[in-house]
Amino acid sequence: MSTISNPGHRPISLTAPSGIDRAAHHRLDEAWLAAAWSHPTTRVFVVSGGQALIDDAPDGGTTLVMTPSFEAPVTETHRYFLGTDEDGVSYFALQKDALPGRMDQSARPAGLREAGLLLSARDAALMAHAVALENWQRLHRFCSRCGERTVIAAAGHIRRCPACGAEHYPRTDPAVIMLVTDEEDRALLGRQVHWPEGRFSTLAGFVEPGESIEQSVAREVYEEVGVTVGEVEYVASQPWPFPSSLMLGFMARATSSEITVDGDEIEEARWFSREELGAAFDSGDVLPPYGISIAARLLELWYGKPIPTRAPGPAA
Ligand SMILES: [Zn+2]
Repeated sequence: MSTISNPGHRPISLTAPSGIDRAAHHRLDEAWLAAAWSHPTTRVFVVSGGQALIDDAPDGGTTLVMTPSFEAPVTETHRYFLGTDEDGVSYFALQKDALPGRMDQSARPAGLREAGLLLSARDAALMAHAVALENWQRLHRFCSRCGERTVIAAAGHIRRCPACGAEHYPRTDPAVIMLVTDEEDRALLGRQVHWPEGRFSTLAGFVEPGESIEQSVAREVYEEVGVTVGEVEYVASQPWPFPSSLMLGFMARATSSEITVDGDEIEEARWFSREELGAAFDSGDVLPPYGISIAARLLELWYGKPIPTRAPGPAA
């Protein structure tokens, strides 16, 4: 086997060990949660609409803006318990309709696509957890069994239905993302219909019910570009709570090379040699991938050296 299972130079954002123990056994223990909340070392941040406040330090590091719980704005908020660290510090997120105003000049709101690249593994993991819970809460306010409005429980990790008693858990939707290579070791990149000119990336799609992830890789590639795939090798995963995906990254070997795009999802797809892709980056014909995406790491793994990346705009 090749050595692609061990991505070299750059880590995959949102994937590294965070040092946070989610301590799920405390989520139903109201007395423990109350004590943890009021403990002086506890740290709290606000999540709102997928954003949190981050602070760019003069030395270049970026941190999630967190406060002790006694400074936190608690009125009419949902409180999510996110876990504890090795020093016993507890972390909570508060979901609010707006981020709090800040006196510090350097604090600014950011979404996870941007913050996930800048923050430490711990802070990025805390934010990803909170954003995922917020997205799920927002989209699952009613019972899928009986239609009644549900109520939040388990420190943000369950919604209960008071009418029929159903318990609803946060959902995570597995999606596959794959870099397909052919027998000449060229990489297959596609352009989605709604993407700007010049943006190419790896193919991706959702796992369907009753399907293995390997089957999903082969099906998505065939559906989108008409290329058949043989060997599939898992590389790494990345939480992608936009709103609730888990990206499962693969390298896949094509067993055919003729491209027929579906025209529906994928508008254009091309095989690139390393030289061709490097030249296309240089000339601007192909835009660099977003730095946070696992797609950039899969591509880099094949390319064999760092590729240029870009940060998302403020809207992301
Ligand atoms: Zn119900």
